[in-house]
Amino acid sequence: MMQSKHGTGDTMSDSKKILPCPFCNGKAEIYMHYPPFGRRVRITVRCTQCRANSGEWGMIDKAIEAWNRRVPVKDEYEVYG
Ligand SMILES: [Zn+2]
Repeated sequence: MMQSKHGTGDTMSDSKKILPCPFCNGKAEIYMHYPPFGRRVRITVRCTQCRANSGEWGMIDKAIEAWNRRVPVKDEYEVYG
């Protein structure tokens, strides 16, 4: 039997895929930082292996976009090479 498409399939996970890490090809995850109240939540996409990250953003979409642009920054204590 062939699978039939129903039109109303995947509405979520389509546009917001998190690409693998550009440095080590590791898995990246979303981290939410909840600062003391009065401040806005900060969202970072970070590699679970080498800790490369997208920087901090106010929205998940923005963080994923930045990460997927493949220009993440490293933590300052990360040693290169
Ligand atoms: Zn990595």
